[in-house]
Amino acid sequence: MALLEVTNLVVDIPTEDGTVHAVRDVSFSVAEGEFFGIVGESGSGKSVLVQSIMGLVAGAETSGAALFRGRDLLTLAPEALRGVRGREISMIFQDPLSSLHPQYTIGWQIVEQIRAHEKVSGQAAKARAIELLDKVRIPDAGARFDAYPHQFSGGMRQRVMIAMGLSLGPALIIADEPTTALDSTVQAQILDLLGEMREETGSTVLMISHDLGVLSRVADRVMVMYGGKRLEVGASAAVLGAPAHPYTAGLLRSSSFNREPGVPLIPIPGRPPSLLAPPVGCVFADRCPDAMDICAIAPSLRRYDDGTEVACWLEDAPSEPATTQPVAAS
Ligand code: SF4
Ligand code: MG
Repeated sequence: MALLEVTNLVVDIPTEDGTVHAVRDVSFSVAEGEFFGIVGESGSGKSVLVQSIMGLVAGAETSGAALFRGRDLLTLAPEALRGVRGREISMIFQDPLSSLHPQYTIGWQIVEQIRAHEKVSGQAAKARAIELLDKVRIPDAGARFDAYPHQFSGGMRQRVMIAMGLSLGPALIIADEPTTALDSTVQAQILDLLGEMREETGSTVLMISHDLGVLSRVADRVMVMYGGKRLEVGASAAVLGAPAHPYTAGLLRSSSFNREPGVPLIPIPGRPPSLLAPPVGCVFADRCPDAMDICAIAPSLRRYDDGTEVACWLEDAPSEPATTQPVAAS
């Protein structure tokens, strides 16, 4: 069953320079208990997509629907949406330092978060906070309860954020580039932790990353976004094993995560389109090595036997696996 069902989502953001067409008719659903990944370069619209669903993009004009447990988050009253945030859906961001208050202890901040949403005694909240810190493997959690954010490493702070994210037992955890600021080894540890917590708590995870290799380690299914559009969506193994879309293949070749020594990293030449005036035809056409005349017309989504959906005119997709490099074993 779908926990989150997004249908024909459009997000326009009026700015001084004109309207930014950040999300253009994107549909996807996240099943209960699933680890769903959204991947794309910066500026692809993936962060705006989740933030607009959560009512966090000031001035955004949205249409479509985002059903969460039967309620449309796009039309929910601000107060009701605040109740959903934190309690039913929690968010973990890239930079824990900006999410944690530097002048309060880690423990105090977790306790406050719990007590802002639940009527529990300070002592009970503290016990739960220590239990959570222990669960995310902060060593000596009882003593570290009184530590300040700057006394933790980047990886430890991200563990704290995961503990906070779990503190209210949310149904959905949204993680936006949670490991991007960390080195590769710590990234892998945090990803494994997220995966374990998902299994243990039964939470559903929606994770955003610019790195397909990172998502390949944890995600059951992935959606590839570019220029505000959905280009490919399917099971991780299918999308990574034989990417059908030229952009997905390019993302794989450019992922540095867990890359075998000696395998070169090949960035995608060029830059994503401006979302102020996105192209009329295929959004990837000016960077695509396979572009054809017909690509001046926007391709619609095609569905393949393995359930993968792809927006590309190429007939014989999926492309040969030989054109991609192995990235991470999942
Ligand atoms: Fe490339 Fe054309 Fe496919 Fe777009 S539709 S990705 S330009 S082949
Ligand atoms: Mg982002």
